[in-house]
Order: sequence, then structure tokens, then C-alpha cells
Amino acid sequence: MFESLSNSFQNAINKIRFKDDEKALKRALDELKKSLLKADVHHKVVKELLSVVERETKLKGIGKENFLSALKNELTQILTAPGKQGFVYSSTPPTVVMMAGLQGSGKTTTSGKLAYYLKLRKKRVLLAAADLQRLAAVEQLRQIANQIEVDVFADESIKDPIEVAKQALAKAKDGNYDVLIVDTAGRLAIDNELMDEIKRVKEVLQPDEIFYVADSLTGQDAVRSAATFNKELSLTGVILSKYDGDSKGGVALGIAKQIGVPLRFIGSGEKMPDLEVFIPDRIVGRLMGAGDIESLAEKASAVIDEKEAKKVARKIKKGQFNFNDFLEQLEQMKKLGSLKSLIGMIPGLNKMAGALKDIDLENSSEIKKIKALISSMTPKERENPDLLNNSRKRRIAQGAGLSQMEVNKILKQFKNAAKMAKKFSGKKGMQDLQNLMS
Ligand code: GDP
Repeated sequence: MFESLSNSFQNAINKIRFKDDEKALKRALDELKKSLLKADVHHKVVKELLSVVERETKLKGIGKENFLSALKNELTQILTAPGKQGFVYSSTPPTVVMMAGLQGSGKTTTSGKLAYYLKLRKKRVLLAAADLQRLAAVEQLRQIANQIEVDVFADESIKDPIEVAKQALAKAKDGNYDVLIVDTAGRLAIDNELMDEIKRVKEVLQPDEIFYVADSLTGQDAVRSAATFNKELSLTGVILSKYDGDSKGGVALGIAKQIGVPLRFIGSGEKMPDLEVFIPDRIVGRLMGAGDIESLAEKASAVIDEKEAKKVARKIKKGQFNFNDFLEQLEQMKKLGSLKSLIGMIPGLNKMAGALKDIDLENSSEIKKIKALISSMTPKERENPDLLNNSRKRRIAQGAGLSQMEVNKILKQFKNAAKMAKKFSGKKGMQDLQNLMS
């Protein structure tokens, strides 16, 4: 996420050689301009940003530090459109959220992601399928709801989306749900019929939030369509989907600046956990390569069972980490979302995100092998890897469809990893780790 924009910023920053003079500042501004235009930021936004950065840098004294802090302030300023941040609950539940967007923007998927995000934060959520335009949308939402184990209101026999909205709202109120999320119809392009329908759904729902899902891959088109929807519906937030793709990134600046509606979330992958809260100063930190530990910690605390984590930590310390713990940890990691989106949050590691794009916790061939190996073990062997003598290893290799060499390799890796984890689990260990990373 943000790789392209972040890389071009950092390239610009690295090229800057300040010698306290105006020429150096001009060169830096030129680099910045190139990188912003390349990232698909609208030229008017670029012009304004550059003039503010120039003015502020001159005011404080020409130098790299002042230049960077002016850039950081102005980016944060641009990305902070007036309105709410993150998810805001209504004082009288249910909080009603209406989702809007063009067909294919990722509206249905994002409705599911948002429901999952809230479920992890212990909220009771009802999803409602009022997109009766796209053929498979109702069934798709039903499947997503089943997958994340959230209730859904989906009834193919109702042909009128207004009626769906009415009934879903009644169910959400009667059933004491905390949040109702209504997926509405999109079209390939904006037309009057679509707008009329959504406006009528809005009338019925009186939503607390109207989120527009904008496909970031469509660049300036996303900005234009968001502007039209905002004019008709008065959006309370925009969710940028597909930010993990080849999006150039500038669209985030465009939406905040040109439309004046706050970005509330960002979609960073196809899976349910791949949704990030958009908090401007944290995002700017990531853009400038400083990582975003706060978001990472917040995400982890919503997902990870603290008691369980402490238990595992104790086991690691005692050198008792076994294969069952490993499988359990893998499940927990999956809830955090794609590895690539997490890496960008760790300071200094964002450049690795590109290299990690193919690592997928469920589908990587290494993880598949390890899982096959573990599933061929007896419960006792999983608890105690030391039991694995040669004849047991042979049996496991056969059961898992692996060569004995592969089995040995994985077991060795596992042992080393457990040893490393033990070493780093003490206070001194953390210091070692920090030294290693700095
Ligand atoms: P809708 O017509 O707006 O409801 O669109 P869908 O929710 O069906 O999404 C269209 C496609 O975009 C699907 O293949 C989704 O998996 C994909 N998609 C949605 N959000 C994201 C995202 O954040 N990242 C990626 N890579 N794909 C996404």
C-alpha cells in the first residue's frame, strides 16, 4: 500500500542535497513536483502544495529538516478534510451505514470488510443486501456474511431496494444490533435512475454514515465520480478500495482536497481483514517512510487474544513452543490481513513491501508444506517435536507427500525459529532485536 507514492517521495527526498541556498530548494521542489505528478496527483493540488512548502521552508530557514517538516505538515493538512475519522458510533444504536459506489468498485466486498472490522471490535453487525442491480450481489453478500459469521438480511423475493432497506432497518432495531450496513446498487456509470434509487434508500434509512467506495485504480475518474455522488447524497466519508493494486496513490490527496470529504478507510487487498482506518498523520508517516506502529498495534490488539498471546509468550520463554502453537499463531496472523500491508506499517521496512507481494499466509508453498507436515503428526508429536526420531520422520514424510529431506529441513527451521524466539523473548533480547533493526 502507498508504495508508489511513498517510493517517489523518498526518491525525491534522497535526491535533495541542501546547501542552504535557494537553488537547492528549487531543485528539491522540482523533484517533489515530478514525483507528485507521477503519482497522479491533480496539477492544481501539486501547485498549491509546492507553493506552501516553499513558503514555509523559506520562513523557517532553507534546509532539509525544515523542508521535510513543511512537506509533512502540508500533506497532513491536505488529507485532513473536515468531518469524522475512523468509525464513529451513533449515540442511539443501530449506527446506520449506507454504502454507495459504482459497479465493480468493491462496494460489496468493502461492506463485508467493514462488518468484519466491527465484529473484531465486538460489535453486533447486520449486513443488508439492497444491491438488486448486479445479478450476483445478493448471493455474494450472503456468502461473505457466512464466511465472517455476521448476520445478513438478504431476500431475493423482495424486488424493491426501498423495501429491503425498510425491512433491514426494522430488523436491526428489533434485534438490538449495534451497526447496520446496507449495500446499495451501483451502475457502470452514473445515471439518473441510480441516483433516484439511492436517494430514496437514503430517505428510508436516514443513515448516520454514507460511505462512497471509490476504486483507486481509476485515478482522477474516482475523484470525479465521488464528487458527483457527494453533490447528490452529501457523503460523510470515502473508502478507497484496491489501494494494494497498481494505484499511483495520488487519488487519496485528490479526494480529500478536491471534494472535501474525509477518507475514512482504505482497502488493501481482497480478503476480509484487508481494511485500514485512514488517520491522516499516520498515513503521512507511512508515506514518508516512518512507518505506522500505532495502527499496527491497534490492529493487533483487536485481533489477538491477549491471554492466549501471554500463554504463548511463556511457552516461548521456556523453549516449549510446539506445532499446535505454530498453527494457532498462523490463524491469528491471517486475521491481521496481508503481510504486505503490515510491512508498510513497520518503520524502515516499507521498502520491502514490494518484495513481499507474493507471500500469502494461506497459499504460500512453504506454509502449505508445513501444514501438510503438521497434519501428518500425532497429537503427541505436535506437542513435543523432540519425539521425532527417524522412523517417525519417515512416516510423516510419507503421509505429507514430502521427501525426507524436506521434512528434515522444515523441522530444523522450526527448531531454529523456536530458539531465536526464546533468545529474543527476554528484555535483553528485545534490545538485541532493536540493535539488529537499527
Ligand atoms: P461491487 O460491484 O462494487 O460490489 O464490487 P465487488 O465488491 O464485487 O468487487 C469487485 C472486485 O474487486 C472483486 O473481485 C473484489 O475482490 C475486488 N476488490 C474489492 N476491494 C479490493 C481491494 O481493496 N483490493 C483488491 N486487490 N481487490 C479488491
